[in-house]
Amino acid sequence: MGGLWLVIANIESKVIFMCGIVGYKGKRKASEVLLRCIKNLEYRGYDSVGMVTKDDKSLHVRKNVGKIDEVDKTEHFEQLNGNIGAAHSRWATHGGVTKLNAHPHLSNDGKIAVVHNGIVENYQELKEFLKKEGFEFKSQTDTEVIPNLIEYYIIKERNGLKDAVQKSLARIEGSFAVVVISQEEDWMIAARRGSPLVLGINKKENEYFAASDVPAFLEYCRDVIYLDDDELAIVYSNSNNPYEIFRLNDLTNIISKKEIKRIDWSVDQAKKGKYSHFMLKEITEQKYTIRTAIEQDHELIAKVTAAIKNAHGVFFVGCGTSYHACVSASYIFAHVAKRHVNVVLASEFRNHENFLKKETLVVAVSQSGETADLLDAVKTAKAHGCKTIAIVNVMGSTLTRLCDTSVMMNSGPEICVLSTKSYTSQLALLLLFAYSSAGRLEDGKKIILEACKHVDKVIDDSLEKLKPLAEKLHKQHDFFLIGRDLAYPSALEGALKIKEVSYIHAEGFAGAELKHGTIALIEKGVPCIAIVTKSTEKMILSNAMEVKARGGFIIGIGNEPNEVFDYFIQVPAASDADPILMILPIQILAYHLALARGFDPDFPKNLAKSVTVR
Ligand code: GLU
Repeated sequence: MGGLWLVIANIESKVIFMCGIVGYKGKRKASEVLLRCIKNLEYRGYDSVGMVTKDDKSLHVRKNVGKIDEVDKTEHFEQLNGNIGAAHSRWATHGGVTKLNAHPHLSNDGKIAVVHNGIVENYQELKEFLKKEGFEFKSQTDTEVIPNLIEYYIIKERNGLKDAVQKSLARIEGSFAVVVISQEEDWMIAARRGSPLVLGINKKENEYFAASDVPAFLEYCRDVIYLDDDELAIVYSNSNNPYEIFRLNDLTNIISKKEIKRIDWSVDQAKKGKYSHFMLKEITEQKYTIRTAIEQDHELIAKVTAAIKNAHGVFFVGCGTSYHACVSASYIFAHVAKRHVNVVLASEFRNHENFLKKETLVVAVSQSGETADLLDAVKTAKAHGCKTIAIVNVMGSTLTRLCDTSVMMNSGPEICVLSTKSYTSQLALLLLFAYSSAGRLEDGKKIILEACKHVDKVIDDSLEKLKPLAEKLHKQHDFFLIGRDLAYPSALEGALKIKEVSYIHAEGFAGAELKHGTIALIEKGVPCIAIVTKSTEKMILSNAMEVKARGGFIIGIGNEPNEVFDYFIQVPAASDADPILMILPIQILAYHLALARGFDPDFPKNLAKSVTVR
């Protein structure tokens, strides 16, 4: 079949579990280091927090429910002694949010502590097995089977720690990134399958980390090794043998070829700095991130362009915000490159298997590069021999290691759970590739750079003006957003932003669709955001009029005022880069709505930054 298929993954991986784990072995007081590290990962999952350290005598565990600072006030993590330990910020999947369910979990004999990110799918079966062997369980979590399986293999089968961990993990169905600390050993074990895990190396200080994500330890080290699925690292931090990495099924042969990567993100990029929230910081960073995104190596652009042009079938795959970027791109590919691209939600990608062959190109779009649904889609594509390209922000993420070619968004770390700057970078990159596929790369660049000139003003004006609007509207139960053509995916993305951060129900529609049913919900005062682009102006204004006639409160985002608008947000025309500018005020309105409703925009309930479960 002809055309291109783009596969996009939710930019904002809202995969199921997104806790953070971190392990430390070095010379410093582990509890102090771990506390700093786990705070840096708090954005990943945040219903409870815990820590284990080991000193000469024993393991010390403290944990509780709440945000890290609150828990630290009662648990005083820094009182824990030892130079080795692990910490966890939990996003519950199995078992309620309680102190007992918080990690770390201990084995029955209290000698093995485990922090875990993931889901042990067969935990009931393993629990039954262990109960028959005389083990007791204190929590409702799936995780608690892991330390107890390890104890089982140590005690009942007289295995050493390494073999016991290997055998235990071999019995687990599901996903895990774990750090294991034993009372008997001076080293820690870190292993993964399906959940992210990266080693941090500070050779000079002879200290080593294992964490879910790089920002955890960025202030201590920048050299990292990304563990692959089914790999296990033993971290000794001896100067002559600091660590060893193995395949989980073979603990005899050390993997010698793991590449050490240097991370060039600055510590400040991963901190809030003068901003009250990461969301605000990252919205503001769009003043330069869009430009940075398109500063790509010419050869890489040529390579991606050729791959798109030569493909027999192109899929853009993503989830959530990334999916919306792909939908947006599909319009530009249609208009400019005259190419059909298939846009598929990553979680639905398998249903398209019959159309995959080795000439098919799958473009996987994701901020984190760890979204489970997207990784699964790419694995499906690879199983059919398809070519794969990642458009991704996190260098070294699983997605970059799976795909044949990776285009980095270079947006710097996106810490807020909500995707903002990564969305506009994705839009810019996909626009660029649509234009390059039409042989008009320079035109594409020009359009983006022209739009970039207005980003500062649109952001600054919106920050100033939209707070009172949010205060006026924050008690509304519903928002509707309408747009046509390129503004339709903007309406989808705008609705997602409002929902995820303010918890107000919001829905985006293609302008003409509302009248096919949903207009029934419009009554006096219901806000409707009409996104008006030059080419769609007449028709979308008619749609806005239909809503107004039923009492709707019309917020216009567009180039010129119109009598139909009850409130108007002016945004300059930017041609195919319209979606880049149009989303900015909506991001900011969503931010203010959250604040007006008393919610913390950085910690939306029920969501996690990287959805690492399917
Ligand atoms: N499944 C584990 C739990 O619910 C780990 C969740 C997580 O990754 O935070 O305790």
